[in-house]
Amino acid sequence: MSSIPPGSRFPVPGSAQNQRDSLLSVRDLIKHYQSGGLFGRAAPPVRAVDGVSFEVAPGETLALVGESGCGKSSVGRTILRLQEPTSGQALFEGVDVFSLDRAALRALRRRMQIIFQDPYSSLNPRMTVGSAIAEGIEIHHLAPRQEIPARVSALLEEVGLDPAYARRYPHEFSGGQRQRIGIARALAVQPAFIVCDEPVSALDVSVQAQVLNLLSDLQQHRGLSYLFIAHDLAVVRQIAHRIAVMYLGRIVEEGATGQLLSNPRHPYTVALLSAVPEPDPGARRSRIVLGGDLPSPSNPPPGCPFHTRCFHPLKNERCRTEVPLLRPIQGTVAACHYAESTPQPEQAGAA
Ligand code: SF4
Repeated sequence: MSSIPPGSRFPVPGSAQNQRDSLLSVRDLIKHYQSGGLFGRAAPPVRAVDGVSFEVAPGETLALVGESGCGKSSVGRTILRLQEPTSGQALFEGVDVFSLDRAALRALRRRMQIIFQDPYSSLNPRMTVGSAIAEGIEIHHLAPRQEIPARVSALLEEVGLDPAYARRYPHEFSGGQRQRIGIARALAVQPAFIVCDEPVSALDVSVQAQVLNLLSDLQQHRGLSYLFIAHDLAVVRQIAHRIAVMYLGRIVEEGATGQLLSNPRHPYTVALLSAVPEPDPGARRSRIVLGGDLPSPSNPPPGCPFHTRCFHPLKNERCRTEVPLLRPIQGTVAACHYAESTPQPEQAGAA
């Protein structure tokens, strides 16, 4: 099956064409966590995800990028129903994921898988790697019992591991090898869609590149779709067709990878991009260090959620009172009142 080259253009989110072509369509997803208050008083909810919408097409990688605590992992876990949504809709292959009962959800999970940042925590240390990979094949009755060892061997080979490793235990492997085992385990049930939740964040740079190449190859051969969650634009530019940038539970900019990286329109995207090492030593780009911390998601600022840290020269009172909506602007969609004149990384760094 052919893959879509990273950086290719996709229809605008929410358009009729996009909804028709989507494998996954997420609408107005909200996930709030209720935390306990002091002295019997209810604490305000933690607004981890606050109205997120996006589409993922067959064979596409959508990257969800932002600082830790921005809600991106909550999006991934909620659309898989590893945690329940507060409200919203997720249609996968036309099926409303949030309305499924347990049996139907279990059947759907075969098509929607997840790879974690720390595969060790999701592997049973007392189970051999072969048994861990075989588990999903057995649960979903995907092969006669006598064929399962051959399936496990083929999966290990597909992810670049020796089939003989099936007899070993998770603690006998390096971080990169364990991530490959996690990928083999996800592939065992023949999914169409995988949430990759910071899958390379804990790996060395050289191993990161190998795992990203593996994910790209698998996408090409199997026609997989990925929701790739990361905090680093440098990682996702290698693998993503489109990038959605999250800040305080909301998407603040979304666009095709090449377009968003070459002409970011939201100041937060500009700041993230300024932290990406420039491959061309002749090109100058100054790092933008945002002031202050990420505001608390239980007490987000009024108006533009980014206004407490924004460096845009046009920032004014309107930013403190009026929430900017996502709108098309020069090839991406961005939620900034003054996106037309957002300073670019080199200008902003010099400012
Ligand atoms: S709306 Fe205002 S505060 Fe928000 S990103 Fe744009 S300029 Fe900055």
